[in-house]
Amino acid sequence: MQLKNSYKQVTSPLELELHHEGRRLTPQRQKVLDLFQRIGTGNHLSAEEVHSNLINSKSKVSLATIYRTLRLLVKMGYLHELELNEGGHRYELLSHDHPDHHHLICLNCGRTEEFESDQVVLIGKQAAEKKGFKLIESTLNVRALCPDCS
Ligand SMILES: [Zn+2]
Ligand SMILES: [Zn+2]
Repeated sequence: MQLKNSYKQVTSPLELELHHEGRRLTPQRQKVLDLFQRIGTGNHLSAEEVHSNLINSKSKVSLATIYRTLRLLVKMGYLHELELNEGGHRYELLSHDHPDHHHLICLNCGRTEEFESDQVVLIGKQAAEKKGFKLIESTLNVRALCPDCS
């Protein structure tokens, strides 16, 4: 996993936006957001990983709560959700510094690598324009087996 130094840049806007939305920043939501801000963009965590991370920091929070919190943060536009196989999901921080990118996802162990492709972005844009859709994002998730699993 690569760590990037975008923590400082994303912290304040996220907190402000949460405030503006009029949603209550419960300690649990704050803890989950803090975790994603700490690791930065470009890292993809499962709900279980978020959970074990928070357990390690001595927070008493159930896995069910983590699932609910993650879904809410996706709905609010702060996290991006990636679908693995069989209902597995991974989450990453959404950031303007880290726009359209694509993922190679190992179906066995969940290892997730990012890549960039202007072509994918362009094809999505062209398809949307052709059908009169307003483009929101154009990303490609490639399901595969990583070298350790294949
Ligand atoms: Zn990503
Ligand atoms: Zn793998």
